[in-house]
Amino acid sequence: MRRISRVLPLLIASAALFAAACGAVSGSSSTATPTTVPPTPTPETPDLTVFRGFIYPVKGGCLPDSDKLMPNAPREYRGGVHEGIDFYNYDNCTKIGKGTAIVAAKDGVVTRADHDYHALTQAELSAAEKRISEGQANDPDILDLFRGRQVWIDHGKGIVTRYAHTSDVAANIRVGDTVKQGDVIAFVGDSGTPESITNPGTEEHPHFELRTGDTFLGKGLPPAEVRAIYEQLFTPLSTP
Ligand SMILES: [Zn+2]
Repeated sequence: MRRISRVLPLLIASAALFAAACGAVSGSSSTATPTTVPPTPTPETPDLTVFRGFIYPVKGGCLPDSDKLMPNAPREYRGGVHEGIDFYNYDNCTKIGKGTAIVAAKDGVVTRADHDYHALTQAELSAAEKRISEGQANDPDILDLFRGRQVWIDHGKGIVTRYAHTSDVAANIRVGDTVKQGDVIAFVGDSGTPESITNPGTEEHPHFELRTGDTFLGKGLPPAEVRAIYEQLFTPLSTP
């Protein structure tokens, strides 16, 4: 209980912050524009159960030990921060490789499913790197390009999860579908990573984001607070 009571104020503070920053999430892409719908609105009084009861997007997974793989970790090389969790084979409690099943972290409605994706090209990578050098690293379309082939799920109350770098989307997953927690939605890949061009096969990992309002859970918070929030996120709802 002591840990919970320490974490709850953080959640309340961050949820209030996110509620104030409500807005539409961009679904833009510099490649083919995927079919997306706006997320459900963030309620003014956050229901804290929305930040509980998620499962890891890879069965048997766990949070990485490295803070560098967590949300809000700096990405100096592109002048930004990491907006999700990276699940690698070596730091997430289970085997993860190309083709490993990615599952829905909670019940929800599919709002994006990139069945029609073309692999990142050298020309796109070069153009993006030029824009990054000009300070555009955090433009939504640049971030979207580097997330590669994606699935997004809206869980209601302003909460959306994104599953990125996938090698493929499960054939039966379509925009508008209702999915249950644990349903297979996609498969691990390295799409959107520069290494998918320069060193294929070395960056096979899911990148998982939890969006709230128009940003990601944990934005602006120090690593220990981010970790506490995400530990809470993956705490079953049945645990008080
Ligand atoms: Zn990542």
